[in-house]
Amino acid sequence: MVSEYKSCALCPRRCGIDRTKAKGRCGESAEIRIARAALHLWEEPCISGKNGSGAVFFSGCPLGCDYCQNAAISRGGAGKAVSAARLAEIFRELEEKGAHNINLVTPTHFAPSIIEALELYRPKIPIVYNCGGYESPEAVKNLNGYVDVYLTDIKYFSDEYAVKYSRAPRYFEYAFASLGEMLAQTGEPRLEGGLLKSGVIVRHLCLPGLRRDSMSILERLAALPKGSFLLSLMSQYLPMGYAPELNRRVTSFEYNSVVKRAVELGLTEGYTQERSSARDDFIPEFNGEGV
Ligand code: SF4
Repeated sequence: MVSEYKSCALCPRRCGIDRTKAKGRCGESAEIRIARAALHLWEEPCISGKNGSGAVFFSGCPLGCDYCQNAAISRGGAGKAVSAARLAEIFRELEEKGAHNINLVTPTHFAPSIIEALELYRPKIPIVYNCGGYESPEAVKNLNGYVDVYLTDIKYFSDEYAVKYSRAPRYFEYAFASLGEMLAQTGEPRLEGGLLKSGVIVRHLCLPGLRRDSMSILERLAALPKGSFLLSLMSQYLPMGYAPELNRRVTSFEYNSVVKRAVELGLTEGYTQERSSARDDFIPEFNGEGV
């Protein structure tokens, strides 16, 4: 058993508990649990490509946002326990199915086991670390040499919203510091045949009523070296029935004004979304497929 689980500080919550005996705030013990491992077509085009990314959806989440679209796995308990050896086999199976990459979805609370699995089998395709942004920079440092692409959210600038909707104090501070470490590891985005081989994509999901907060994030991102990352501005927010003020879609005005601000700031390398992307049939079934 990996020693980091004995007094867990894998994310900024730093629960300090022994996950070989109990579950942390992420809802998970030291046993790796996965809800689905399959080809997935709903990421950015440079990740999904034609064949799909080899998405491994881990159970649990260090964040627990009120509007989570994957609530069935982030807090609903869906998932099946696997060993590090089985996880390594899953990587191989997805590679053999033609996946363009291995896409580790919400991996932070199992990072040491993922490293263990990658020591057993290192696929020849890129490893994508698809995370919520509430990362500890020290934990990201430990991934150096194992991850080719970071696909990281930056959800909030204001601590008020981070605490209100995700109970995640100092979210932006941790996300921005971790982004610095990610950029140092991967360097500038490297694309081959339209597929991202290494680099960082910063994802930002626009939320109802929070366009000013989105713009504050963009202003901080614009201070980073030009071309050092790709930006993915997402409009696919779906109301999940929690906080009443979030119980609507993002309007065209809200989303377009955020996109306009990104362009004004020179953040033009990356992706925007059609508003029609907000459809719940993009949420996969967490039925244990491929586990
Ligand atoms: S990964 Fe889980 S147990 Fe570890 S510090 Fe974060 S929330 Fe706590």
